[in-house]
Amino acid sequence: MKQNSEVKINRDIARDDLILITGAGGFIGGSLARYFHDLGYTRIRAVDRKPLPDWYQRVPGVECLSMDLSENENAIRAAVDAVEVYNLAADMGGMGFIEHFRVECLRSILVNTHLLEAAWRAGARRYFFSSSACAYNTDLQKDPHVRALKESDAYPAMAERGYGWEKLVSEMFCQEYWAERGLETHVARFHNIYGPHGTWFGGREKAPAALCRKVIEAVDSGNLAINIWGDGSQTRSFCFIEDCVLGIDQIMHCDRLIATPINLGSSELISVTDLVTMVEQIAGVQLKRSHDLSAPKGVAGRNSDNTFIREVLDWEPLTPLRTGMEKTYRWICQQFQDRKAGKRVVRD
Ligand code: NAD
Repeated sequence: MKQNSEVKINRDIARDDLILITGAGGFIGGSLARYFHDLGYTRIRAVDRKPLPDWYQRVPGVECLSMDLSENENAIRAAVDAVEVYNLAADMGGMGFIEHFRVECLRSILVNTHLLEAAWRAGARRYFFSSSACAYNTDLQKDPHVRALKESDAYPAMAERGYGWEKLVSEMFCQEYWAERGLETHVARFHNIYGPHGTWFGGREKAPAALCRKVIEAVDSGNLAINIWGDGSQTRSFCFIEDCVLGIDQIMHCDRLIATPINLGSSELISVTDLVTMVEQIAGVQLKRSHDLSAPKGVAGRNSDNTFIREVLDWEPLTPLRTGMEKTYRWICQQFQDRKAGKRVVRD
């Protein structure tokens, strides 16, 4: 199987073709804008509804627009001249967010609906949609000793309420725009993406960033204790951001993956308890643990079955969790110090 450095992608776009990336003020969209910029693409339009100063990353030379894409006129404006569209815009966060704000999650359907139509009308060549493992049937995720989820497990449908259903219906929009209108669409189901430049406090952060922050706070305050959501037995896999952007690029430019949702995640399963231990080891501390059993904890177990992506791309996300967590921990440490010093940092 190919390592990241061996991946070759056959992109049929010119250096100055317009690439539209939405949700670019957030974690994955911002990282994708930087990725294409660093590859030498010269016309990237980044759109997010956040005011520009609140964007997690601002990439030099990238056109940045602050617009709410749930408004049809803004979606039309964003799509003008776009050759490729990457829709990473959604109202989302970790379990704490998606269990409490289902309406906000569902309303993201407006973004994808308007943007697909706008992309089709503008004559875009390709359209990417960021779906989620939350689209999978929750009945299959009740045991921490999970069977990894394969693409066909989304149906019969019993997605995560709110957020997961929005993803499933938006996937269907993408498939029908290809089937009925010939717009080439590509859909990846992300499994817990983490890494530098993601939110790490404020309520939308996910387990890897939240645990890094809690360990850093414990060390900083001298109160060597940590509170963990749930009993710690929940299992997940976590995919490093560098694998994620490389995976998006490959999935978007693969003819076998037109209108065919595919997992984009790591298959390295870990329990929350073991993830806490990993962060403690990185930090060189051992903390007294307590558990909040009433906190949102999501499904009992979830892993990515990578059989299909290995078969189609001869590649899968392989960055070891320990390697990615070390980089993430170091980045959050720096953010923590910057926040203490009153500097601007990434938040939700
Ligand atoms: P993020 O919250 O960091 O970024 C999403 C961005 O979308 C935010 O900056 C937000 O302001 C923007 N946005 C929301 N509504 C908008 C609107 N109406 N108009 C314009 N911009 C809007 O999240 P992320 O982690 O970067 O996620 C990107 C995509 O990947 C989302 O579709 C998300 O559902 C999906 N996804 C992420 C993960 C993960 O683990 N991070 C897992 C599964 C799926």
